[in-house]
Amino acid sequence: MPGGPIHQSAFGSEADLSRCVHCGLCLQHCPTYLETGLETESPRGRLHLIRALSEGRIDLAGNTMGHLDMCLQCRNCEAVCPSGVPYGRIMEHARAAVIESRRAPVPWRLRSLFLREVIARPGRLRALAAALRFYRRSGLRALAESIPLLRDRALLAPSIAGRPFTGTGVLARPKGEPVARVALLTGCIMPLAYGRVHRATVRVLAANGCEVIAPVDQSCCGALQAHNGDRQTAQALARRNIDAFLEDGCDFVVVNSAGCGAAMKEYGELLSQDAVYSERARVLAARVKDIHEFLLELPFRPPTGRLEASVTFQDPCHLAHAQRIREAPRRILQSIPGVQFVEMEHADRCCGSAGVYSFTQPQMSLQLLQRRIDEVRASGAAVVATANPGCMAQIEAGLRRNRLPVRVGHVIELLDAAYRAEHR
Ligand code: SF4
Ligand code: SF4
Repeated sequence: MPGGPIHQSAFGSEADLSRCVHCGLCLQHCPTYLETGLETESPRGRLHLIRALSEGRIDLAGNTMGHLDMCLQCRNCEAVCPSGVPYGRIMEHARAAVIESRRAPVPWRLRSLFLREVIARPGRLRALAAALRFYRRSGLRALAESIPLLRDRALLAPSIAGRPFTGTGVLARPKGEPVARVALLTGCIMPLAYGRVHRATVRVLAANGCEVIAPVDQSCCGALQAHNGDRQTAQALARRNIDAFLEDGCDFVVVNSAGCGAAMKEYGELLSQDAVYSERARVLAARVKDIHEFLLELPFRPPTGRLEASVTFQDPCHLAHAQRIREAPRRILQSIPGVQFVEMEHADRCCGSAGVYSFTQPQMSLQLLQRRIDEVRASGAAVVATANPGCMAQIEAGLRRNRLPVRVGHVIELLDAAYRAEHR
C-alpha cells in the first residue's frame, strides 16, 4: 500500500472502537445487512473493517471502501446497540481518515469537492437549484424519466419547485409578550427545495407565542460534509453558525430538518479540539432544538382547525436514531382534528435518501425506496408526513415512480394547515 497504514488515531478513538462486543444485536436493524445478508454490509462487519484499517492489517482497497460507502450512516445500529457503540462518530472519523490520507477513491474526492464547493456555497447552490428547476419545468426531466437507461437516476434528482425561502432578520412576532425568542436554521437545501416548510415553521412558531428570527450570517450546518469525511469544512461551517446564532442572542435555535438538527446538537464534539470554539460550540449545541421537541416543551397549542386525511409518518433516521425523537412528531400529528394517524411497517427504517447516498449508491437507494413505497401503499394513508428534506424528496420520487397518488408533507406543514383552517 503506498504510504503505509494511516495512523490509528486518525480513525477515531480506540475507546470508541473497542466498545463493540460483537454481539450482533444491531444486524437485524441495519438496512444494508437486511438487503444483502452480508456481514461486510453490517455494522459489526464495518467496525471490523475500520479496526483492521486502523491497524494497517488491510489496505484502502476498492472493496473495503465500497463496504464503508454502502453504509447509509442512518445510525439505526447505534440506537439499538446495548454497548453504546458511537457508530456515527466512528464512521465519520473513518471517512475523514480516508479523505485526509489523500488516497481516497476518485468518487469520494469528487463528492467531497461538490459538498465543499457547491452545497456549502449559497450562490453556487442557488445556481444549481435554478438549473434543476429548469430541468423539471422544461420537460427534460420527464424526457429523461421516459428513457429506461436514465430513468432511475433521473427520478432520484431533487425536484426543485415552489417559491424559495429568503427571509432573514425578524420573521415573526407573536401577539403579546413572546414566550421565547427563537432563531431558525434556514440551511442549504430546505430553503430552495421546500421554502414552503420554512414559511409554515415561522407561522407555527408565531402561533405558539414565539418571536422568530433568522440570522443573516448563518450557513449550511455542515452535516453532509461531516458525514462524507470533510470534517474541516464541517468545522468551518459550524464556527460560522456559532458566531451567527450566539451574536443574535436567541433563547433557542430551532431546526426543522432532522439531519441538520442532529449535526448542530453535535457541534460540541465536532469542535472539541478547537481552543477558541470548543466552549462556544457546547453553548450553542445546548440551545439547539428540533421543531417537534421544541413545540411540545413550550407548552404546545393544539390546533382546532380540521384536516381530513389519513396520515402516516416516516421517521427520518437522524430524528429517530441520532436525536432519539420518535413520539413528538406523532403526538403533533395526532393532535390535529380530523387526522387519522396510521403507522406503517418499519417507519424508522431508512428510505435510502441519506444525504447524497441516492447518487452514490443508486441501486441500494432504490431498493430501500421501493420497500418504503410498498409500506406506504400497505398503510393505506393518503399523506406521508416526515421531517427532513432528503426524505421528502426521496419519497416523492418513489411515489412518482410507482404512480401512487399519495402526498408528501412535513409534519409542521400539516400543523400549519390545521391552524390556518381555524380562520376559515
Ligand atoms: S455495534 Fe453494538 S450491537 Fe452491534 S455487534 Fe457491536 S456491540 Fe453488538
Ligand atoms: S449506519 Fe445504518 S447502514 Fe450503516 S451500519 Fe449502521 S444501521 Fe447499517
